[in-house]
Amino acid sequence: MSKKLIQIGMDDIDSPVGGCTTHFASIIVEKLSQWIVEWTDYPNLIRLNPGIPYRTRGNGAVSLRFLADTDDLESIIPMVDRLIHDYVKEDYPNTNPGVVFLEGKIPKQVKHLSELALWRVVPIELAERVIETCKIPHYASGNGRGLIGALSAVANTLREDYTYEYIAYRSLKDCKHDRGIDGNSVIAMDKKMGDQVFSNVDPSTNRILIEPHGPDPVLFGIRGETAESVLEASQQVKSRQNIERWMVFRSNQGTGEHLKHDVEIKNLRPYMAAVVKGRVESEPRMIVGGHCIFSIIDRGDRIDCAAYEPSGEFREIVMKLRMGDLVRAHAGVRPASRTHGLTLNLEGLEVVELAKTSIFSNPLCPQCGKRMKSAGKEKGYKCVKCGYRDTEISRTERPLARDLLTGLYLPPVRAQRHLTRPLARSGKTNRNIPYGLISKWHNF
Ligand SMILES: [Zn+2]
Repeated sequence: MSKKLIQIGMDDIDSPVGGCTTHFASIIVEKLSQWIVEWTDYPNLIRLNPGIPYRTRGNGAVSLRFLADTDDLESIIPMVDRLIHDYVKEDYPNTNPGVVFLEGKIPKQVKHLSELALWRVVPIELAERVIETCKIPHYASGNGRGLIGALSAVANTLREDYTYEYIAYRSLKDCKHDRGIDGNSVIAMDKKMGDQVFSNVDPSTNRILIEPHGPDPVLFGIRGETAESVLEASQQVKSRQNIERWMVFRSNQGTGEHLKHDVEIKNLRPYMAAVVKGRVESEPRMIVGGHCIFSIIDRGDRIDCAAYEPSGEFREIVMKLRMGDLVRAHAGVRPASRTHGLTLNLEGLEVVELAKTSIFSNPLCPQCGKRMKSAGKEKGYKCVKCGYRDTEISRTERPLARDLLTGLYLPPVRAQRHLTRPLARSGKTNRNIPYGLISKWHNF
């Protein structure tokens, strides 16, 4: 029998006892691995536009890709449906699961939706229309919002750049208790693994970033450049709670994939993820709550930019901006409210060009060295001490020393989005789809 590529996308699969989409995906992988499927890729963990307000707990969408016999899909679909049913409780209000099943090539409408979902708001109606026109087998409940992430994940094959995440899960009955991650083991691991892993520890506070804080089954997750390195790193982390299952994902985390669009101020829309180039038009000021605000202008349109309090020391950089500086704001667009207009919520700041700001002062007297006074409009300068006059002499210009360099600045690692490309990854791109998987990428 001939084998066919099957791809499954899923999103928003939460359960009242603390399940999440990646955890559910690991259960599906376990079932399918007992079947005779040939995995062509690691499960993909896809993060979408981080500015979307109604996401559940920053939950990522997942896709699975494998070869199976052509008629296998007929039995895989009901199996997945049954497993979701057992996993989520239908009356649990905050979950809107969506799963899609694709055979062979990804239709271009799905690709288009997937690209949109990285930086725009995708209406449910668009997802439903794509499913209908492409006749995509699917499962949805609640308001069906999970279908957006499911379609987005299935069509994102991570060709431009990708990273890996090893995720360890605890048993669902452990979810009420503390994870007991040994911070020192994480710091030691991070040091030993060097640039093969990233965003595990916040360097300025030594805060451990590999563990979530909710009651979900994720015990910890380690991000890195290769499947081998995240697996090796995981073996160095100690925790009080046991690992029940683990799996390696390929992901768009840490790639900056959501910030590929340069948008003019007049074209910005709420919840967009965009890069906006403009000149600083009002100097930064700190407002109540420790938020830092300034505005930029492009082609006569202006917009406020905000670096909020949790962005910590990043605000100190922002406060150094001066009128006329040219910047590229990496931002999520916050909608207007009663108290403020459309605002760029800064996720990063590229200082492109520093304005030439100078201090002008009256010239010094060439005869006695005292600072001269103006002798009146277009009459030059006079010295009040020795009486010297000069109509040719002009003001002296002293460039203002700037304590800021051009370049890219980001909030500290602890305040970055999952998708933010951290400075630790600058200049790094994983472009080639891995050929063959490591022999052990999950524990079941
Ligand atoms: Zn003088």
